[in-house]
Amino acid sequence: MYAFEYHRPASVAEAVRLLREKPEAKLLAGGHTLIPTLKQRLAQPSDLVDLGGIAELRGIREEGGALVIGAATPHGEVETSDLVRRTIPALAHLAGEIGDPQVRNRGTIGGSIANNDPAADWPAAVLGLGATVRTDRREIAADDFFTGMFETALEADEIVTAVVFPRPRRAAYAKFPNPASRYAMVGVFVAETDGGVRVAVTGAAPCVFRLTALERALAANFAPEAVDGVTVDASELNSDIHASADYRAHLVKVMAKRAIASALG
Ligand SMILES: Cc1cc2nc3c(=O)[nH]c(=O)nc-3n(C[C@H](O)[C@H](O)[C@H](O)COP(=O)(O)OP(=O)(O)OC[C@H]3O[C@@H](n4cnc5c(N)ncnc54)[C@H](O)[C@@H]3O)c2cc1C
Repeated sequence: MYAFEYHRPASVAEAVRLLREKPEAKLLAGGHTLIPTLKQRLAQPSDLVDLGGIAELRGIREEGGALVIGAATPHGEVETSDLVRRTIPALAHLAGEIGDPQVRNRGTIGGSIANNDPAADWPAAVLGLGATVRTDRREIAADDFFTGMFETALEADEIVTAVVFPRPRRAAYAKFPNPASRYAMVGVFVAETDGGVRVAVTGAAPCVFRLTALERALAANFAPEAVDGVTVDASELNSDIHASADYRAHLVKVMAKRAIASALG
């Protein structure tokens, strides 16, 4: 690890000021991605701005019928929240499938979506529910937020403050986890919302994406059999030491069927 200055601001405004003053600074949330990156010397920030002392970034609440999850809320808090289990149980289920208890106690929803790892779980829920990402300066629709592998629409000095999830009619998430890390080899989030059916796939490609062919099929018939008539193009999917693109294409259909069956209860 290289030497750096450590800051622990008490407000979002103070954190933004620090980022503006120190262009080489990095935000620190749960540290589950950032700290290993620093230890491997893959990043050399001049300053770390720790979000852990900012109370306004933490917590889960209802707002106008939507569920608002603060960016610095750890996965474990979402997993065990009565409010989440009552309003959007698919989110509690997804959070409970992330890593292990240690990871769920430290890792945060804001860190996960800002990092946008191709195999992360939260991007599937954010895109699958058509959520809105709230930052210190604007609101970004999920469809515009995830722009590529480890890339998002965030500016360098922009802080995610919360994610606003509209309440779906029904929704579910199914993933095939990597047996070592529990990251998604493939994860599929299916939601029937007031605006139509949405299907988001993570783990399979360089970036989370919507499977629009399946969305159309499910709009006509919201049932696991609808998956049979849909072709998943393997040419755009990842091949690596864990799975080939063809295997991932197969897993997308299997996970989609499981998610639909689970959404139907
Ligand atoms: C062993 C292990 C297993 C894991 N398994 C899974 C899994 O199964 N599924 C899964 O989805 N994830 C998994 N993770 C990832 C983990 O759950 C965290 O979500 C992830 O590490 C990022 O969250 P963090 O809070 O630790 O962010 P950090 O590591 O602190 O930060 C990550 C990046 O996001 C930036 N950032 C953080 N917060 C904000 C913010 N509010 N606004 C703007 N930028 C911000 C930071 O500057 C940094 O660039 C695993 C991690 C480990 C170590």
